[in-house]
Order: sequence, then C-alpha cells, then structure tokens
Amino acid sequence: MDKKRIAKYWKVHSDNSLECTLCPHRCKIVEGHYGRCGVRLNQDQVLYTTSYGKVVSYAYDPIEKKPLARFESGSTVFSIGTSGCNFNCNFCQNHELVHFKGSCRQTSPSEAINMAMQNGSIGIAYTYNEPTIWFEYVLECCKLAKQYGLVNVLVTNGFIEEAPLLELLPYIDAMNIDLKSYSDDFYREICDGQLSPVLNTISKCIGLTHVELTFLLIDGYNTDPVMLESAFKWVGELNSDIPVHISRYFPAYQMTVPKTRLDTLAMARDLAEKYLNYVFIGNAFL
Ligand code: SF4
Repeated sequence: MDKKRIAKYWKVHSDNSLECTLCPHRCKIVEGHYGRCGVRLNQDQVLYTTSYGKVVSYAYDPIEKKPLARFESGSTVFSIGTSGCNFNCNFCQNHELVHFKGSCRQTSPSEAINMAMQNGSIGIAYTYNEPTIWFEYVLECCKLAKQYGLVNVLVTNGFIEEAPLLELLPYIDAMNIDLKSYSDDFYREICDGQLSPVLNTISKCIGLTHVELTFLLIDGYNTDPVMLESAFKWVGELNSDIPVHISRYFPAYQMTVPKTRLDTLAMARDLAEKYLNYVFIGNAFL
C-alpha cells in the first residue's frame, strides 16, 4: 500500500504558496518540505500525507487506559498510532513513538478493522501520537468501523481546525482531550501550540460526543492553584458531568522536573471537585 496520499484540507494561494489548513498552525509549506507535524509534504504543489496507513504502534488496551472512565467501562479497545505531532511538548510522554523514524507496519483501513474485531475489542482508539494529523487514515478507518458496529475513540490534543473536526466528529463515539494548561504562554513556550483552539475544540465536542479531559500536571509549570481553579470552573460551566483526569507527570524527553508531587495532585483534585462531579487521579494512587 502506498504510504503517500493526497491530503485533505490545504490550499494554494494566488502567490503560489501552499497552506495546510488542517490545524491552527496553518503551515505555509514550500516545495519539497514538510509542515511542522512532519507528515505533510508539498510535492509539485500538491500536499500529501506521508503517514497514511503507517502504524507504528498497536495494542489491545483497557478503555480506562485511554483514559476514559465513564465510557464502556471494563471493555478492551484496539489502539493504534503513528509518528508525528503538531505540538512539540518538551515533556512528551510518548516521544519515542512521536519521533519514530524506522520501518513500520503498513495497515489498510480494512486490516485495522479486522484487528479491531479481535480479542474482545469494541472498536478502535486513535492514540499514542496526535491522531488528527493522521486525518485521512483516521477518517477512513472511522467510517469503516461504523459499518461494522465498532466504536471510534480519539485521544487528542484538540489542536485542529473546525472544518476537519466537524467532518470527523459524526464518527467519533468518545474523546479524551488534553487540556495541558489554562495558560496560552504555557502552550506557546512548552508545547509549540496555542490555548484558544484547544478550548474551542472542547466546547464544540461537548454535546456532540462523549468527552473526557486530561490535565497532566507538572509542578511549577501548570499547577498554579488560581489558574487550575479557573480551568476547572470553565469546564464546569460547560458541563459539570464532564469526567476530568488529573494525571501525574513523569520526567520524559527534554523535561527533567521531578514527577508530580502527590500533594499537588490532591490539591488539584480538591479544586476540581468544587466544579465537577467526576474527577479521577491518573498515574498515581491517592
Ligand atoms: S497539520 Fe501539520 S502541516 Fe498542517 S498546519 Fe498542522 S502542523 Fe502544519
């Protein structure tokens, strides 16, 4: 199977510059180069996705590991991911996979669906790296999965433009969206991202699919109690029944700050419970 497919969501301007419109980075990509995610290539003034069907990692995981606490509890979900990301978080907990350059398993959507129907799996989770930059493949898998009565789960940073998000959403049964911080500075300086598109994605998805949120806390970086409380209040005003996962960070990639203190997790949980009905601790026992 050819790994390279013509991408969706791009345009050529009158000055011949090519712009990818899949995510809010809106990369201007010159001939022979890739966008920031590393998987979208301008070749002969056409934008290609170079990761189509390129499965770098797969596993049959408990749904709680996505994490989803209030969706199909106790079930197993076939989980797949590829390489690349439109963020560059210097604490990336999956950096070996995201930056993977080796060979991989080419997997057609029908092969992925076959695997998703084995080992008691209820469907497919698109996870490990950022699945929205795998858009064309994820969309095809999602459509096929629905034909076979399977569920689709998206584990995402939420950094996607509205048009592709709305094209994908009708096929998505559940999402876990990271809210890495309530600070735009944090998104820009630590993640190479932006906050407001993520908030927009969260707002759009709630009510259209099952949404849970993950807050990965790093002491001194995104643990200011005032900011955390503002974030939990914002989520609670959207819907106080949204499950929130307060997750412990471990040093990884370029971040050497020690693992999150347990009292920080407890503080965040207490603040979250002022506004939200379902608060879970991840990667730690409290
Ligand atoms: S999807 Fe990739 S190429 Fe497209 S705008 Fe985002 S980072 Fe740039």
